[in-house]
Amino acid sequence: MLDLIIHDGRVIDWKNHIDRVTDIGIKDGLIVSTNAYGLNAKNFVDASNLIVVPGIIDSHMHASSWLGGPEAYQMLAVAGVTSAFEMAGPLNSVKKYVKKHGTGINIGSFEQIKPGVNVKTATPSIDEIISVSSQAISDGAYGIKILGGHYPLTPEATSSIIKISFRNNIYCAIHAGSTENGSNIKGMSELIEIAENTPFHLAHINAYCRGAVFPVLQEVSIAEDLLNNHPEIVCESYLSPINGCSGKCNSGVPESGVTRNCLLSKGYPATEEGLRKAIKEGQAIVHVAKQGLIELSEPTEGLELWEKSFTDTPLSFNVNPSLPRFHFATAKRQNSSFLVDAFCTDGGGIPRNVIISSGLSLVKLGALSLEEFVLKSSYSSAQFYGLTNKGHLSEGADGDITIIDLERQTPIFSFVKGKKILDKGKVVGQGGSMITSKQGERSILSSGLEAITVDTEILLRNRTHRFIPTSH
Ligand SMILES: [Zn+2]
Repeated sequence: MLDLIIHDGRVIDWKNHIDRVTDIGIKDGLIVSTNAYGLNAKNFVDASNLIVVPGIIDSHMHASSWLGGPEAYQMLAVAGVTSAFEMAGPLNSVKKYVKKHGTGINIGSFEQIKPGVNVKTATPSIDEIISVSSQAISDGAYGIKILGGHYPLTPEATSSIIKISFRNNIYCAIHAGSTENGSNIKGMSELIEIAENTPFHLAHINAYCRGAVFPVLQEVSIAEDLLNNHPEIVCESYLSPINGCSGKCNSGVPESGVTRNCLLSKGYPATEEGLRKAIKEGQAIVHVAKQGLIELSEPTEGLELWEKSFTDTPLSFNVNPSLPRFHFATAKRQNSSFLVDAFCTDGGGIPRNVIISSGLSLVKLGALSLEEFVLKSSYSSAQFYGLTNKGHLSEGADGDITIIDLERQTPIFSFVKGKKILDKGKVVGQGGSMITSKQGERSILSSGLEAITVDTEILLRNRTHRFIPTSH
């Protein structure tokens, strides 16, 4: 007697090269069969006319008190996500949110290295770097995140953090940009140079190809060459035209370098006054919470919200050209593996959780096969984050599954370890496990959360090789 049978769906699995209509059987949270016709189960879900894929993994999103907020958990579940990585912290807020606002999704959280917050200046000493990052990891952070273009460190400090993290088996993700170069193609080139072939995770490749330095096409080609020459770098890209950043101003100037860049690119001065004008004219779009979800506001409402919160609201600009989004979603290396490993959204609480809606448009366009969609939306992230039991539907794998209406490009059901978290588009999951390293497991458990533990030592020692050699 199984716990669950997902009946008659079109099952797609990149790893096992499956694309056929079949029944999936789940028992004790694990997949026991992808040929479960005629078996008995306590629960049946009818997936006829739907596609059944390994649970969507959002490799980079925001769901902390600083960015994303508590609404992120509902928004991710509605978007069919079953595991997701919070890319900015603070970690403590993520732990609290998972407990209180979690929707059954597995969450890994990065801890930010932020000058003025957990390091004193943009040039932290080696001792400071070691102490902050090891504290973050033992508190349960999956890894550490350098905020680059948003809150830059010097190139020297950035380089030290990359190398110290790798030596200490700490997963390090980075938003390009330093005190010398912005969040653009120059920042990306500089970062790769100062890493000196040390593996790291480079966040959202397309954010550096917005045409800030050279024409977009030229920037895409530079980024492509860099990635081709540096297979040790793990990276993701997103599909949404909007970004997300902070509206917070200090002494008349937006705090975030990215916000200032966006203003300049839209022809506004990089000041509080410039931002006010951009909001008024609908170029900077303030986020607004409605019925537990975050939406994009209209200019008048947005301006009011931004003023009322003394500028401290998240907002978005329409700054991501379509060419880099398309290119990095589909481009391949010479060995026919993907140039950019995975999809992400950089969403969560930023309203752009479009892996399914936009990713499947690429399938319909013939730019990706359905199996490749599975690779980029689940299997590849599972591999680079060390979630060996996720991203595929092998017997014994975790019962993390997303069921999608392909025609409408909308998730209908999703399951985490066989437990339903999305039911006919309605969120029914609660709480959630946290994905952490061996060193962080104790802290996660003692906060009353369940832990999914990854051996980052094994993971990072293998990083010098590509983890997915070729596609089919
Ligand atoms: Zn981000």
